[in-house]
Amino acid sequence: MMATGTASRVLQLQCPVCEHSFRVTEVNTFARCEHCGENPLLTTYNLEGLTIHDIDQTTRSMWRYAALLPLLDQRNKVTLGEGWTPILKAERLSKRYHLSNLFIKDESANPTGSFKARGLSMAVSKALELGIETCIVPTAGNAGGALSAYCAKAGMKAIVVMPRHTPVAFKKECTFFGAEVIEVDGLISDCAKKVAQLKQLQPCFDISTMKEPYRLEGKKTMGYEIAEQFNWVLPDVILYPTGGGTGLIGMWKAFQEMKTMGWVSEKMPRMVAVQAQNCMPVVLSFEQRHEHSKNYCGKATFANGLAVPNPFAEKLILQTLCESRGTAIAVSDPEIQAAMKEISSAEGILISPEGAALLPALLQLIEQGVIDSDEKILLLNTGSGYKYL
Ligand SMILES: *Cc1c(COP(=O)(O)O)cnc(C)c1O
Repeated sequence: MMATGTASRVLQLQCPVCEHSFRVTEVNTFARCEHCGENPLLTTYNLEGLTIHDIDQTTRSMWRYAALLPLLDQRNKVTLGEGWTPILKAERLSKRYHLSNLFIKDESANPTGSFKARGLSMAVSKALELGIETCIVPTAGNAGGALSAYCAKAGMKAIVVMPRHTPVAFKKECTFFGAEVIEVDGLISDCAKKVAQLKQLQPCFDISTMKEPYRLEGKKTMGYEIAEQFNWVLPDVILYPTGGGTGLIGMWKAFQEMKTMGWVSEKMPRMVAVQAQNCMPVVLSFEQRHEHSKNYCGKATFANGLAVPNPFAEKLILQTLCESRGTAIAVSDPEIQAAMKEISSAEGILISPEGAALLPALLQLIEQGVIDSDEKILLLNTGSGYKYL
């Protein structure tokens, strides 16, 4: 309601390792720190004096947190009504597994059916503000659909590079939105190589996960919503299906910002990264079964959003898991498929396979005593199951 709520408090982009900073008014085509190499850049804000009254209560989308987002001129906002998704109490699953506080934040309600809408609304808005005309993205599926939709809305060109084996609905939606779709044999890592080639041939802005810094800020809004919807008391544990890790890092960033502003208490949720056994680089790194994921070769999984063998922001993912005293765990494709049916029929949500992976992971962690059955547990259903049918 307050006019101050919409003015961005953004300061700059900063390397989390060497703290070198970059301006937010510059197109940083390689949005990574050139000084210390391969690190993603994080957006910083002047959080001084911001209160929950600076949330724009009249805006029922992620843009209610515009003060904490990097868009300088609100006229550049490219929105399809993303965010402000419901948190549902999972009543029947709770009963079945004797859990007292199990919730699902249902991101399938987003435009293009996944939480990628948050990141891409933010990134395309910033791209428009920076005068960019063509965007390109390597994608496992949902990021391509979201980029295509927001570019359509903004009158920009989108090029989407996707694994050939991706279910056809993911490709067709991009085509409907007017994007150019390029298919590649292999996983998203192979698509990224193709993007690197294409960028040499024509000017286009690379909007890859964590290489473009503002998608993270869009996904961060999930963290703000979780706090606001739970009346500023965060859950004990959050389970998140992890591919490139944007949502995990983004929520954690939001929690830290809110802690700094005094909106939430010091007690932070434990963050759990859930992966598919076919592609579990973060789990292997977390368990120190390999040094890092740079040379990891994953296989395709039914949960295609999780088929990210070499996550660019792995250090930040691991840092989030460690700082929050969380963990990482992988489940099998048959478990994912069974859980998709179980959750859908118990809760009335046609859950994405990525979101479904969280249930077998949760049950294992309860069994291991890592999570207590009376804790407040939140599962992030990151997308809709419709495109996978
Ligand atoms: C992309 C995607 C993920 C993984 O998100 P990251 O931010 O890359 O970790 C999970 N679920 C769905 C449905 C996705 O589309």
